[in-house]
Amino acid sequence: MISKAVEQMLNQRKDKFLIPAEIVANVQETNTLDHAFLVLTKVKYAKIPVLDNEQHFKGLLSLAMITDTMLGLTGIETKNLKELQVKDVMQTDVATIQPPYDMEEVLHELVDQTFLAVTDEHGIFTGIVTRREIMKAINYLAHDLEKDYQLTERE
Ligand code: AMP
Repeated sequence: MISKAVEQMLNQRKDKFLIPAEIVANVQETNTLDHAFLVLTKVKYAKIPVLDNEQHFKGLLSLAMITDTMLGLTGIETKNLKELQVKDVMQTDVATIQPPYDMEEVLHELVDQTFLAVTDEHGIFTGIVTRREIMKAINYLAHDLEKDYQLTERE
């Protein structure tokens, strides 16, 4: 259990955590790897969400998942990039969160991941919660906790 005071203060800023789907770079699961390679290289993010053609969240894709398919016996081979699709190499065992998300779960998951995908109850991708946004809220908490709460040291 996280402290009630911490939970309440984080909850006050919950609406600010979500980066909406409209501004999150993504690829479709049926895109070829050469298209996905281009997108990932251009957006410069390490990992981005994979969606289907109805905006359902399907998994995550990183540059390493693509470049792994280029390792041939004699060097780098690019022919797989035209033949394989994103769904052939993406990561599918991905935890997602649904609003109203539990702050304890979010903090726990963000220890190992830089962002969490948010979906609605039908699995439609609605955005991401990033470690950066949570760090901003923790920063605010560290500065303002004693403005709202009186803390006393235990003997
Ligand atoms: P940040 O905490 O802002 O550095 O973001 C952490 C990770 O979230 C990035 O490395 C990306 O994988 C992902 N991310 C953040 N913003 C976006 C975005 N607008 N589009 C796609 N992925 C993003």
